Amino acid sequence: MIERPTLFIHRARAERNIAAMAGKAAASGVRFRPHFKTHQSLEVGRWFRAAGVEAITVSSPDMAVEFAADGWEDILIAVPLNPGAEAEYRDLSERVSLGLLVDHPDHVDFLQRTGLRVNAWIKIDAGYGRVGVAWDDRDTLRALALGLSALPHARFAGLLAHSGQTYQCRGRAEIEAIWSQCADHMWAANEASGRLQTDISVGDTPSCSVLDRFDGCTEVRPGNFVYYDLQQLRIGSCGLDQIAAAVACPIVSVQPRRNELVVHGGAVHFSRDVVAAPDLGTIFGRALSDAGDGWSAFADGVALVRLSQEHGVLTGPPGWIAGRRIGDVLRIVPAHSCLAASALRPHFAIV
Ligand code: PLP
Repeated sequence: MIERPTLFIHRARAERNIAAMAGKAAASGVRFRPHFKTHQSLEVGRWFRAAGVEAITVSSPDMAVEFAADGWEDILIAVPLNPGAEAEYRDLSERVSLGLLVDHPDHVDFLQRTGLRVNAWIKIDAGYGRVGVAWDDRDTLRALALGLSALPHARFAGLLAHSGQTYQCRGRAEIEAIWSQCADHMWAANEASGRLQTDISVGDTPSCSVLDRFDGCTEVRPGNFVYYDLQQLRIGSCGLDQIAAAVACPIVSVQPRRNELVVHGGAVHFSRDVVAAPDLGTIFGRALSDAGDGWSAFADGVALVRLSQEHGVLTGPPGWIAGRRIGDVLRIVPAHSCLAASALRPHFAIV
C-alpha cells in the first residue's frame, strides 16, 4: 500500500547506467558533465560523485544552489542566461565555478556590466532549432567570441550545443548521422568564431547511449540515461533492463465493463508527454508485470491511455483487469522520466 503516487528508483540499474556512461566518457577522453535536471536528487547526485563525476549541468539557478550546497563545485546552468537572476548568479559565482550560456550580444553586455566571474559558453544551434546562434551565422559567432574574450572577469569557456532532434530518431544509424552533423557544425562554428576556444560541449541521451565513442567534442552532458524511459526504449537508446524509474500508483477504481482501471496518478505526476507504442497507440506509460523481480517485463497489453489532473486510466486484457483490487499498486514506466521525476521530487523511494 502507498499513500500517493511515488517514484520508485531502481538503484542498482541507475548506478549501472551511470558507470557505463562515465566509463564511455573516460574511454573517449572527454569530460562527463551529466545533466542533473532528470533526477534533481542530492542522493542520486552522490552516486554520480562515487563514479568520479566532478562537473554537472543543471537547468535553473535554484537547482544550482541546491547542488552547490551539497558540495558540487563545477556547475553549468544550461539555458541562456537571464539578466533577472543576477543576484543568484553572483552568489553562486562566489562559491562555485559557474557556467552560463550566451547567444546574444545583450548577454555579453550583461556580463560586461555586472563583472560576474563566470565561465561563458556560446550556445550554438546545430540543428535543433530551440535556442543558440545558428552554427553558420559567422558574423554573430565572431562578434560574441571577441566580446567574451575581451571581458576582464568572465572567461570564454567554449561552444555548446544540444541535439534534441535525436528524439525523433529510430535506431542507431539515424542518431549517428545527427551526431556527425552536429560535430561538423560545431567544427565550422569554432572556425567562424576565430578558434578562440576549443572546448566543445554536446551530448543528449540517445546519442550518448548508442555511440561507442564520443569523437568531435571535449565534453558530454546526457541526463535522462540515469533512469531512461519509454521514449528512449522506442528510440532504441536503451533496453527494458536499463529502465530505472517507475511511478508507483494505487488503484482507486476498477471499471470492468470498459476494461479499464483508474489509478491515483495523473498529468501532475506523469506530465502530458506521450510515446507511440506499437500495438498500444499513443500512451503515457506502461505498467510493469509483477513477475520475477517486478522490473523485467511489462504487463501484456496494459497501458496508461488517458490522464486528467490526478486520475490515470489504464486499459488492459479483461482477465488482467478482473484480477486487480482497489489499493493494489501498479508500477508504471512513464513516457518521459525527466518530467515525472521532477513532478514527484518530494515523493520517491529507492528500491
Ligand atoms: N543539455 C541541454 C542543454 C539540454 O536541454 C538537455 C536536455 O534537455 C540535455 C543536455 C540532456 O539531454 P537528455 O535529456 O537527452 O539526456
